[in-house]
Amino acid sequence: MLADKDRIFKNLYGLHDSGLKGARARGAWDGTKAILAKGRDAIVNDVKASGLRGRGGAGFPTGLKWSFMPKQLGERPHYLVVNADESEPGTCKDREIMRNDPHLLIEGCLIAGCAMGANAGYIYVRGEFIRERERLQAAIDEAYEAKLIGKNNVHGWDFDLYVHHGAGAYICGEETALLESLEGKKGQPRLKPPFPANVGLYGCPTTVQNVESIAVVPDIMRRGATWFAGIGRPNNTGTKLFCISGHVVKPCNVEDAMGIPLRELLETHAGGVRGGWDNLLAVIPGGSSMPLVPAGADQADTLLMDFDGCRDKKSALGTAGVVVMDKSTDIIRAMTRISYFYKHESCGQCTPCREGMGWMWRVLTRMTEGRAQKREIDMLWEVTTQIEGHTICAFGDGAAWPVQGLLRHFRPEIERRIDQYTRNADAHGAVREAAE
Ligand code: SF4
Repeated sequence: MLADKDRIFKNLYGLHDSGLKGARARGAWDGTKAILAKGRDAIVNDVKASGLRGRGGAGFPTGLKWSFMPKQLGERPHYLVVNADESEPGTCKDREIMRNDPHLLIEGCLIAGCAMGANAGYIYVRGEFIRERERLQAAIDEAYEAKLIGKNNVHGWDFDLYVHHGAGAYICGEETALLESLEGKKGQPRLKPPFPANVGLYGCPTTVQNVESIAVVPDIMRRGATWFAGIGRPNNTGTKLFCISGHVVKPCNVEDAMGIPLRELLETHAGGVRGGWDNLLAVIPGGSSMPLVPAGADQADTLLMDFDGCRDKKSALGTAGVVVMDKSTDIIRAMTRISYFYKHESCGQCTPCREGMGWMWRVLTRMTEGRAQKREIDMLWEVTTQIEGHTICAFGDGAAWPVQGLLRHFRPEIERRIDQYTRNADAHGAVREAAE
């Protein structure tokens, strides 16, 4: 369990002042000038040494991503774009940072901007986050007023920060769709390459980074890369915000060390599974687009909540939106509902995604009732593999994986339901025949 002294987000629950005075009392904006004075390369190297991996879902090494930006400023300006379009079902961590600790994010933007040679940054906030946007804007105004950011600020790196709000489309959380939307176009993902570090916002070098990834940077720079790298496990370092929802006694958001076993995470912070561990059916460890992990004899102890730990269980940490489902869950129906969400949110550019999502949802809807044939289970699996890896963006994969998780672990339940439906239909037929 994470020691209190190692916490980065000290106002996660909004119990204290989220404004500049409160943030400063918690350590924000302390020594920022000295951090920037280290220079671009030193900051990037420190972030690399910390082992920080992107907290938005993909887990790409953050320092490495920053190093892809051109070393010299050319004719085109560089941009930092923060992805605050938090829309993954089961995930609600970035909103807490924006409304309760916004100065950590703003300071992180300044440091990241300096590290990538950007004098301007955009924070793209999910459209539904209205209060969060207001709180964030108020904090940015405070930072401007105190000359912490802006032109000729006290830190010596000119940096303007703009808040932009989306219109509520899930796909705008995909980095290139976000850039399209920021440019005022329809939020549809771009083909890569070129990658944003070369051709990003307005055709200029851009790095898109998740809120949490940026907000932890000031602490990494202040406390040192070794401190951050010493938390968690190699390749899975640092602290992480976990969003625990579903059938636990006390759903919550919490910061803990990467690699914490599932049982410890749920028991320490969420009061354990509703009705006890024997009542656990499955857990989705990283937001709805990740495959579920079924309950097993020692699953709760062996599922380590980090990138490699979840991968070992054929799932992924994603956004660390932990959705717990107990035995009262109709698992086929739950996955059908998730499938409906992805069908609704597909941007429609690629055929496998546009057509496949609706197809999967319709088949799953029938399977929920048992109104299907057993050969359709393999057919459904086949369709998921035809979507996965065959689309412009990772949305296709993220929509196929939950269905794959269901088929991998709950095939007997689907078959049982089909058998039951067939038996009922036969019985009905017999009764009708007798009546006739
Ligand atoms: Fe759009 Fe889906 Fe293709 Fe992504 S995979 S570009 S969401 S159609």
